[in-house]
Amino acid sequence: MNDAVKPEKIRCDACPVMCYIADGKSGACDRYANHGGELVRLDPLTIIQSGQELVPFMGEGATEDWDGDIIKGTRPFITAVGAGTTYPDYKPAPFIAAQQVEGVDMVTVVTEGIFSYCGVKVKIDTDRHIGQERDIVRVDGEPIGHVTTSEYGSKMLSLGGVEHLTGGTKKEGRVTCDALLRLCNREAVTMVIGEEDHATEVIVQAGKPPIINGVVESLMRVGCGSATIGMFAKKWPGHVDDVVVVDDHITGVLSEHEAGRQLDVPPTGIKILGRRSTPGRYFQVAEPGTGWGGTDIADPLKILGDFNPKIAREGMRLLMISTTGEQYEYFELDANLVPQRKDMPRPLLASAELIAENCEPSICSVLFMGGAGGSLRAGVTENPVRLTKSVKDALTHVSCGGADAYVWPGGGITVMVDVLDMPTNSFGYVPTPALVAPIEFTLRISDYAALGGHLEHMKSVDEINADGTRQVPKNPKSSDPMDRGNYRWKAR
Ligand code: SF4
Repeated sequence: MNDAVKPEKIRCDACPVMCYIADGKSGACDRYANHGGELVRLDPLTIIQSGQELVPFMGEGATEDWDGDIIKGTRPFITAVGAGTTYPDYKPAPFIAAQQVEGVDMVTVVTEGIFSYCGVKVKIDTDRHIGQERDIVRVDGEPIGHVTTSEYGSKMLSLGGVEHLTGGTKKEGRVTCDALLRLCNREAVTMVIGEEDHATEVIVQAGKPPIINGVVESLMRVGCGSATIGMFAKKWPGHVDDVVVVDDHITGVLSEHEAGRQLDVPPTGIKILGRRSTPGRYFQVAEPGTGWGGTDIADPLKILGDFNPKIAREGMRLLMISTTGEQYEYFELDANLVPQRKDMPRPLLASAELIAENCEPSICSVLFMGGAGGSLRAGVTENPVRLTKSVKDALTHVSCGGADAYVWPGGGITVMVDVLDMPTNSFGYVPTPALVAPIEFTLRISDYAALGGHLEHMKSVDEINADGTRQVPKNPKSSDPMDRGNYRWKAR
């Protein structure tokens, strides 16, 4: 703390804002407060009780005083959630926690990182059109990101990043930071995608179905139209003469598709209004939208031209269905070879139900992505680049709130993590604006010494006061950060 400040206020030096905080008040980010002249971190340090060890049932290693529990002992993992930060200078990380793990002396360097370079990647499981690639995503009228390349059955958003946090107006930065914070802490965020003439409102919340223009999405498509024909072709011969699976990307037609040929489905003279790719597969049958199969159509007949009178005949039966099986209609050709709507026969209804049953629930996935920068690494070691090399060399394991973090190849320590794998309320912010996210580096103490680590600040985990901490169970989806399988030296 700075001795020159007024005695009733203390200066927080946990981020560049450097708030002066009066007794009983909190700083601008609500993460730190002045309690009787002491700077305290308001959220509790979060500890995962992990690494429960299997006790051998009989034989080698069995102990006479074994009490019959198959699982024995717990191993705490100090996460960086609630740990505090040391930004923007070289001070050691808030916790450098040592413990022995299966005979190996390990250390976990624990710090909340202040990420000016960060954002989220959002995967929205839906066929519905939510915007063109590169359309701007806005929250409260401010641009916070854009639509990026679609994945199989999902739309993707790239949100945040330094350009929106710091490169635009002050309001853009503040709104972007707030939207990222809420998304990462699993809250719902309402966003508008695209310009006024083609705007879509989407409500995104990690682990929940998206709400698109007020409609809760329920199913993620089973596959593209062509794949749907391939998967379910055997359900249709004998019950119908042709099937069209309507899809914005690849519409499938049974009688022309390879799957139909294998089943000896004869031609029907059907004409699809779209660009033919390969037999039974058509692109661009309609415009993208929120109708059938991610197209803008509500009436599937709009994608059909006239039937070929040399092949088609009166009474021919046609099923048209979407890639989730949610929309379907059944037609029979009249004397003029025009499809007429009829009640759907029971076996065809069963096939629609089968398609829907094979669709997974639609959810939104939010992955935090950020770069561990210079000052954060300086809190770990006096030689920051050695930490980067150590991570690349698989001597140091990186986790975020104890959750597995994917470290991107190439330079720097750029991590990506599913926010649902992390403890709740793992994220905070500072008004610079930047997001505060937990990050832990776990390695052998010998490797930490070789890195130039702050060994003099290392404490045993038992010395870290558990009073007021939040204890959470280990997420079964995440691996144990201290598991030797994470490390290159495991084979020795
Ligand atoms: S914004 Fe928060 S972390 Fe930054 S100086 Fe103020 S209280 Fe401390």
